[in-house]
Amino acid sequence: MKVVPLASSSKGNAYAVSAGGDVVLVDCGLSCRRLRERCVRLGVDLDSVAAVVITHDHSDHVGGLRVFLGRYDVPVYANLMTAEKIARDTGIDESAFVCFENGQSFEIGRMRITAFPTPHDAADPVGYFFETPKRTYFHGTDIGTPLDSIGRYLARADVATLESNHDSVLLHGSDRPESLKRRISGPRGHLSNDEAAELVGKFASGRLKKIFLAHLSGECNAPRLALDTMSAQLARMGREDIELTVL
Ligand SMILES: [Zn+2]
Ligand SMILES: [Zn+2]
Repeated sequence: MKVVPLASSSKGNAYAVSAGGDVVLVDCGLSCRRLRERCVRLGVDLDSVAAVVITHDHSDHVGGLRVFLGRYDVPVYANLMTAEKIARDTGIDESAFVCFENGQSFEIGRMRITAFPTPHDAADPVGYFFETPKRTYFHGTDIGTPLDSIGRYLARADVATLESNHDSVLLHGSDRPESLKRRISGPRGHLSNDEAAELVGKFASGRLKKIFLAHLSGECNAPRLALDTMSAQLARMGREDIELTVL
């Protein structure tokens, strides 16, 4: 199984997860043109995309979906509330969706995929856990609270994409409106660098080899801060062997 992050920020999110020739896109939050450019640059074959799986209905995760589906006729996997919300917001026909229940696994090619609920201010947001006979991958962004129920999936991962959205000091010192600060740092907002480190400290197992730090805020975070916070956590755990990449 191979994971290629294509875009990760509040401006657009998309990831390619592939195994045995099948590619699954996780979210489609950037324009088709930009998606195609990145796929060419990063060696992802869009013609091999077998399905899109959606974490939640926010536009930074589904903004490019409608145009994408006009060119690539593939099924979109989402839970019912997310599918209904996207259909209402974007005009995508409900027949484009294959709906699953959170916690119930489904298969695309060789990948077994399970959606787990995440606390975030969307219709019914989820993260994903991917499994092949050889490898596992945890995908968790847009997480307001570092819940144990999420950590238990992280504990089974070889590779993880984990949100490290903001630095709390930078967020509260920023000139963003108070209501927005409360939303971002709230229980259904986004994970701070410290909260991401806390989740890894509590749940990362010996099998975890690589972490992508994802969905960084442009204004209220810096790649160096996110990296330093997680590196310090891994050092405390004696796990400097884990490869860290900031997206
Ligand atoms: Zn997002
Ligand atoms: Zn979101």
